[in-house]
Amino acid sequence: MVDFGFTEEQELFRNTLREWCEKELPLDKVREMDTRGEIPRALVKSMADVGLLIMTAPEEHGGTGSDWVTTCVAAEELGYADISIALPVLWLVESSWGYVVDKYCTEQVREAVIRKAIRGDSFIGIASTEAGGGSDVASFQSSARRVGDKWVLNGEKMYLSGTEEAKKWSGGYFVIVRTSPAPSGKAHQGMTGFYLPIDAPGVEITKRFEDMGRMAISTGGFVMNDVELPNDHVVGQVDRGFYLTMEGFDCARILIGAVCLGAAKRALELGIEYIKERKVFGQPIGKFEGIHFELADDWAELEALRSLVYRTAWMMDKRYQEDHFSSLEIAKMISACKLKTPHFAFDVFKHVMLWLGAYGYTKECPVEMGLRGIMSYCIGAEGTRNIQRVVIARELLGKDFIAHR
Ligand SMILES: Cc1cc2nc3c(=O)[nH]c(=O)nc-3n(C[C@H](O)[C@H](O)[C@H](O)COP(=O)(O)OP(=O)(O)OC[C@H]3O[C@@H](n4cnc5c(N)ncnc54)[C@H](O)[C@@H]3O)c2cc1C
Repeated sequence: MVDFGFTEEQELFRNTLREWCEKELPLDKVREMDTRGEIPRALVKSMADVGLLIMTAPEEHGGTGSDWVTTCVAAEELGYADISIALPVLWLVESSWGYVVDKYCTEQVREAVIRKAIRGDSFIGIASTEAGGGSDVASFQSSARRVGDKWVLNGEKMYLSGTEEAKKWSGGYFVIVRTSPAPSGKAHQGMTGFYLPIDAPGVEITKRFEDMGRMAISTGGFVMNDVELPNDHVVGQVDRGFYLTMEGFDCARILIGAVCLGAAKRALELGIEYIKERKVFGQPIGKFEGIHFELADDWAELEALRSLVYRTAWMMDKRYQEDHFSSLEIAKMISACKLKTPHFAFDVFKHVMLWLGAYGYTKECPVEMGLRGIMSYCIGAEGTRNIQRVVIARELLGKDFIAHR
């Protein structure tokens, strides 16, 4: 039996969240956040109050134990509300990497870190990328060595979402570093994930980038100079961190898919509203077929990608709940979502901006925030477009056909 419907609880959740977004995240507030370059702390606390933070965490850990379809509903609604993408970025980074840390961390870290993040009292992010490149995780230079009952971390991480928020609100990162030399031909082995508090002695934020979009959340970098972490800050098994990192990327990528679709839907709605009103050559521009064709194509692609994203989220739930699909099968589907949705959403914003003419290019119009914000996902936050193609081709052809091996 095939059932394409959401459950009653999921519909109810969507309606409740939509009401929350209308109240807390109207477009003028999003514009204000974009201009000020800041997410108000009260907004994050309000998200916590309605159970939005790290919502996949089980109830006994402080979360709501939501499945991935429901979490994608949240992503879609947040993307629809905040088309600048800043709040959705903060939310989805925490949702994905909070999920990984919660799943694999020690009880001490869960108590000290996860519960706090779920209450909106701290930020949790991902520190993977290095200055030498982000796509090739196995080539990272940052390292940790075991000294007695502690670990000592050194290295530098770059282009990280939320460094200022972590510093201001307290918090830290899931950081991936090398802990053992890689066995020949197996560069992905010998890496370990740690929970790194941003205020640990030896961590220094060295950079705040001036981004093109999603202005309300910071992007920065930090160095680790002989940072000592207790053994209980290891997340998962020593030398197996690569796999946890891939799991976190999978979670983030599916949520990015849903965020991009929410934002694209909002852009289309803003465009439809405008083309029905705006008169050129004596009639609304919505009567011109040139506009119809673009609108119809965008709508059709939106619906197709929505099916892809929710089917993939459904597969994730089946996998986690019933061990139904293999993680590699799911990774391929997730990569298809991340491959297609940011570029599609960017194209929709571009089309709508063109329909809007000169007005669309001004900051009086919300559409330009979306164009700038979505570009971060086209560039590659949580993995570039080509890397998604590498994942898909690897699954279609087999590992022997990986180009860089
Ligand atoms: C706004 C923003 C926020 C970010 N936030 C975070 C964060 O919170 N934490 C974090 O760790 N990182 C973050 N990143 C970094 C992001 O994960 C990296 O940009 C991404 O992984 C790519 O790494 P890179 O930029 O070094 O590009 P590179 O790895 O240098 O790649 C450059 C180009 O080469 C292509 N390429 C690479 N390998 C191949 C291949 N095998 N085949 C074909 N083409 C290839 C890529 O597709 C890309 O087009 C963020 C990035 C942005 C833009």
